Amino acid sequence: MGDLVDAWETRSVTRAPDDVDAVVVGAGFAGLYAHHRLRALGLTVRGFEAAGGVGGTWWWNRYPGARCDVESMDYCYSFSPELEQEWTWSERYATQPEILGYLEHVADRFDLRRDIQFETRVTEAAWDEKAQRWYITTDHGDRVSAQFCIMATGCLSEAKQPEVDGIETFRGDVFHTGRWPHEGVELAGRRVGVIGTGSSGIQSIPIMAREVEHLTVFQRTPNFTMPAKNAPLEPEAVAARKTRAREHRDAMRSSRAGVVVPMPEHSALAVDDDARDAHYDRAWETGALYGMVAAFNDLLIDRDANDTAAEYVRARIRETVNDPAVAECLSPRNHPFGTKRPCLDTDYYATFNRDNVTLVDVRATPIVAITPAGVRTTDGEFELDTIVFATGFDAMTGPLLGPDITGAGSLKLRDKWAAGPRTYLGIAIAGFPNLFAVTGPGSPSVLVNMAVAIEHHVDWIVDCIATLRERGLASIDATVEAEDDWVDHVNAVANLTLFPHANSWYMGANVPGKPRVFMPYIGGFPRYDEICRDVAAHDYRGFTLTPATAQQPAPSSP
Ligand SMILES: Cc1cc2nc3c(=O)[nH]c(=O)nc-3n(C[C@H](O)[C@H](O)[C@H](O)COP(=O)(O)OP(=O)(O)OC[C@H]3O[C@@H](n4cnc5c(N)ncnc54)[C@H](O)[C@@H]3O)c2cc1C
Repeated sequence: MGDLVDAWETRSVTRAPDDVDAVVVGAGFAGLYAHHRLRALGLTVRGFEAAGGVGGTWWWNRYPGARCDVESMDYCYSFSPELEQEWTWSERYATQPEILGYLEHVADRFDLRRDIQFETRVTEAAWDEKAQRWYITTDHGDRVSAQFCIMATGCLSEAKQPEVDGIETFRGDVFHTGRWPHEGVELAGRRVGVIGTGSSGIQSIPIMAREVEHLTVFQRTPNFTMPAKNAPLEPEAVAARKTRAREHRDAMRSSRAGVVVPMPEHSALAVDDDARDAHYDRAWETGALYGMVAAFNDLLIDRDANDTAAEYVRARIRETVNDPAVAECLSPRNHPFGTKRPCLDTDYYATFNRDNVTLVDVRATPIVAITPAGVRTTDGEFELDTIVFATGFDAMTGPLLGPDITGAGSLKLRDKWAAGPRTYLGIAIAGFPNLFAVTGPGSPSVLVNMAVAIEHHVDWIVDCIATLRERGLASIDATVEAEDDWVDHVNAVANLTLFPHANSWYMGANVPGKPRVFMPYIGGFPRYDEICRDVAAHDYRGFTLTPATAQQPAPSSP
C-alpha cells in the first residue's frame, strides 16, 4: 500500500479507489484520441471531463460565429483513413456545431464514451512514490488510482474571467464567450456591450451587430485580422482531397505549422513597394490563417520587414472603415504583425461602419467599473442590457494548474511553475513521473494546427507507455537537466523572433500576475517531431526509467 492510500484510509474513506492503468483528463480532440489509442493497447482507462459531453473547446464555445480558422479538411483526425473518407465537411471553415458533431461522431464510431465520466472535474492528482501510481480525486468524490495520468486538458479551456469591479451589480445578463449557454442567447432588440477583441470577439462582433439594437465594442488592444473568405466546399474539391488524403497528411506533417503553406523564399525588404504590395494582395485574398504571416520569410524575425505587413493591414483597415478616427483606433500599433494569434474574420472591419455599432477605446478611457446600468469608463457610462466578455483564456498553464497536482517528494506543480512553466518537450514535467501533458507549454501547440499536434503527442505518449509495459518498467520521469536544456532551447528559439515583443496570451500577458514566459515552442512542427523521435529512439534520452520493484505489481501485460 502506498502512502496516499494509507492517508486516505486514515481519513475514514468509505471505499477504496478504483484501480486502472490510465486516467485521461479531458474529452476534447486530445482526450478522445488518447482513449482510442490506450484502449487499443489493452489498458484499462478511466476518463473525467468537466463538460457535459465530448468535444472540449467545441462543447464550451458556442458563441455566435464560433468556427475554426484552420481549414476544416485539415482540422480533423488523420488516424483513421475510414473516418477520413466517410466524413464530409460542408464549409471551408466549419462552424462550432459542425465540429462538435464531428467529435460526437468520432466518440460514437469508436465507442469512446463508455469510460468517460462527464460533468466531473479532477481536483487533485498525487503521485505515490511507494506504489508508483497516481491517485486522482474529483469534485464528485471519485478516487481512482492509475499508473499513468494523461492531462488532455487543452490549452484554451480555462476561461479567463474579467478583472473589473461591480459585475455582480449589473442588472442585465452577463455571458462569457467560452461558457456560452447551450440554449442560445436572445440578443435581438438589446443594447449589448462586448469586452475583448481577440479571436472570439472578432468572430462574434459582426454576427451580433446584425442582431442587436446597439453594439458597443470595448477594445483595449486592436488585433490584426484578415478576411476568411469562407465558403461552402465544392464536392469536387472534397473528392479530390479524399483521393490524395494520405499524401496531403504527409505534407501537413512536414510543414512548420501543420498545414501546407508554400514556404516563402524572399525577404519583404528584397522587393520594391509595388511588388511587395502585389504579393500582400495575393496573400490577403487567400483567406488562409498563415497566408499573410508566411508571405515573406522574415516577417516574424525582422522588425522592418514586419512593419511592411503591419502597414499593409492598416491600409486595408483605412480603406474599409469610413470614419478615419475609428479606422485609426482599430489599427494595431503596439505589437508586431503576427505575434499575437492572427485572426480570420467575416466583415469585421466593415461592421464598424454600421450605425448601430460604437467602438470605445478603453486604453484611452479605461473601464472603471460595471454598474447596475452598464459599463462606466473614465469618459462616462454606457447603458446596456447584456454584457459579453470575450476575454479569452488563462492559456496553456491554466488548465494544468487547475487541479492540485503533487509529484514526487511532495512537490506541487503550482510551486514548481511559480515563475513560469517548465517541461521537457512540452509533454513531461521533471518530478511528475508518468504524468503526460498533451500540447503542454514548451510544445508547438497553439502555434500549429492543433489537430496535428494532438495526434502527434498522443501517439508519442502511448508509444512510450507501450515501451514501459513491454519492458516491465514502473515509471518514467524527465530529468531536471533535460528539462532545463529544453526550456533554454524553447526560450532561445523564441528570442530569435519578434514574438516576445508582444503582450500576448502566448506570453501570459493577458492574466494579471502571470509570469511572462513565451510558452509555445516556435521551432516548427517538423523539427519538434524530429527531436521527439530522437529522444524515444535513444532509450528516452533525458528521462529516468524506473523498474517495477517486488512490491509493485508489474503492469499487467496487454
Ligand atoms: C473558439 C476557438 C477556436 C479554435 N479554433 C482552432 C482552429 O481553428 N485550429 C486549431 O488548431 N485550434 C483551434 N483552437 C484551439 C483548440 O483548443 C484546439 O484545436 C483543440 O480543440 C484542443 O483540444 P484538446 O482536447 O487538447 O483541448 P480542449 O478541447 O480544450 O478539451 C479539454 C477538455 O478538458 C476539460 N478539462 C480541463 N480541466 C479539467 C479537469 N480538471 N477535470 C476535468 N476536465 C477538465 C475541459 O472541460 C475541456 O473540455 C480553437 C480554440 C478556440 C477556443
